[in-house]
Amino acid sequence: MIGRSILVSAIMCFTFLSSGCFSQADGHYSARDLNRGSKDSYWSDDYADDDLDDRESDDYDDDGGDDSDIVMNPEVKKDPSYIVVNNDFSNLQVYNPRIPIYDQYTLEQRRALNLPTQLPPVQKFSGIKMAYLTFDDGPDDINTPRILDILKMYGVIATFFVCGNMVDTYPSVLKRIFNEGHAIGNHSYNHNYKQLYPSASNFLYQMEKTDEAIFDVIGMRPLIIRAPGGKYGAFTSEYYPMLDKNGYVEYDWNVDSEDAKSQLKSAQALIDQVDQQTQKKFKNDSAIILMHSTAAKTTTVDALPKIIQILKERGYMFGVITPMTPQPW
Ligand SMILES: [Zn+2]
Repeated sequence: MIGRSILVSAIMCFTFLSSGCFSQADGHYSARDLNRGSKDSYWSDDYADDDLDDRESDDYDDDGGDDSDIVMNPEVKKDPSYIVVNNDFSNLQVYNPRIPIYDQYTLEQRRALNLPTQLPPVQKFSGIKMAYLTFDDGPDDINTPRILDILKMYGVIATFFVCGNMVDTYPSVLKRIFNEGHAIGNHSYNHNYKQLYPSASNFLYQMEKTDEAIFDVIGMRPLIIRAPGGKYGAFTSEYYPMLDKNGYVEYDWNVDSEDAKSQLKSAQALIDQVDQQTQKKFKNDSAIILMHSTAAKTTTVDALPKIIQILKERGYMFGVITPMTPQPW
């Protein structure tokens, strides 16, 4: 097997909707359902928000109901750090918005092994008010570590859409993101619009190159991507079938902290943006918040604790982007 650390096959029921592990089959779950599963609870204290502390147990058991590879990272205690998709992607119905999902193969490896590259239809997560903090353009060795410290302090998970050239420069920071249970997504190799947006094949080239950079560090590749600048206005119709064919799921955002404006905004201005934009009800109760983790974005770091507090007070739970995350629009 390629690039695996410790594999614990099997635990649990927290995967297939079809396995009947959850009491509801319509895709809508209460916080109580999610906290408890039906008989297996799979959330850990490490990942728990304050409002999840009433769950009954964080024990796992092996009911033999699933052959997914659940990877346990000893540095993160007993909890699954991420889930590895099956060769045929059949375990993509994992119904947990808090555990990152990766592929153990690059696209090139899948093609060579004659494995599918296109994802099957996936039911999107819904039913709980979720906030997905996303940090683009890193990792760097200044602000990304500070962001990771804050996330750890608040017990919150996030998604980092990284650029391949930054991964090549700061591999140890990428490794830390991975080890601490956050999700990693692909944000192109060099973020250069002129090179990314002439054609879908140009875009694919950078996606694969970045996958390789990520794979070299963590032994996995993400299925989630974010188009630099967002897909609207950038993608032509040829991009969508290219992404489908290669199993990439693109996520833009529906809350913009505005930390990418050319003139650096104050921390308070970023807080105000997130505060104002998260007062409304979102489609699927899902707020995907755009921020950045590069050396220039100092005020993002300063604003983050307050942004987390506001979202918690507003009743959001924190998740990571996976192919099961609903689209923001
Ligand atoms: Zn970007």
